[in-house]
Amino acid sequence: MTLVALAVAAPVVPARAAGLPAKATTIVSLTFDDGDATHTAAARALERRGMRGTFYVNTESVGREGKLTRRALAALARVGHEIGGHTLTHVRLDELTRDEQRTQICDDRRTLVRWGYRPATLAYPFGAVDADAKAVVRECGYDAARTVGGLRHGGCPACPAAETPRPKDRYAVRTPSSVREDTLVRQMKQQVLNTEKSGGGLLPLVFHRVCDDCGLYSVSPKVLNEFLDWLAARETRGTVVRPLRDALNARYRPLPAG
Ligand SMILES: [Zn+2]
Repeated sequence: MTLVALAVAAPVVPARAAGLPAKATTIVSLTFDDGDATHTAAARALERRGMRGTFYVNTESVGREGKLTRRALAALARVGHEIGGHTLTHVRLDELTRDEQRTQICDDRRTLVRWGYRPATLAYPFGAVDADAKAVVRECGYDAARTVGGLRHGGCPACPAAETPRPKDRYAVRTPSSVREDTLVRQMKQQVLNTEKSGGGLLPLVFHRVCDDCGLYSVSPKVLNEFLDWLAARETRGTVVRPLRDALNARYRPLPAG
């Protein structure tokens, strides 16, 4: 066999089940925490650009004032957004006993399953996690979990730009700090560019409310739209947007008995 023939016969890396283009090296996951009612509009902004996101909800607050209703949540899932767990009542898991953690994590997931979802990933409220919480998240059937922090942002210039495509710790997937009302579009773009420059990888971004002047942990629709327009145009450079579940190839596992 000649060298040319060898080159032609080189194995082609198959596109992943999630449908990633073969050249994709940077995956951005847009994650939205707390089941805020403004996430319906945020999801539409993603859909207009062919993107799907991840929405982490606290099942005990679904349907409450200012939160997504069950119907709104179902509408998100129907068009392909990921629905993930965020504990029953949004507690700091590292301050709970293991039994309390089990209730917060497993019962929340059980409710999501009863509602018809197949939750594969969880986000820790406040990004607060310890070894016990990770173990319980796994025990409750989640295949991966997202923290907050650990990647490069203003407060940690020396942190890595991106999470590795196969995170060292699937139960503590890292992110930059949460997007806040004072976060500039330029800073979000820079995080994507840093990921591309560092050779690619996974960049999960953390959003909360999507509205104008509605708290520290919010982003205005204008800022989000501007960022999404820019991000959509990066696809030609191999940068794609995927729900975290797809980016991590996270599987749905049944709930433990009881
Ligand atoms: Zn939260």
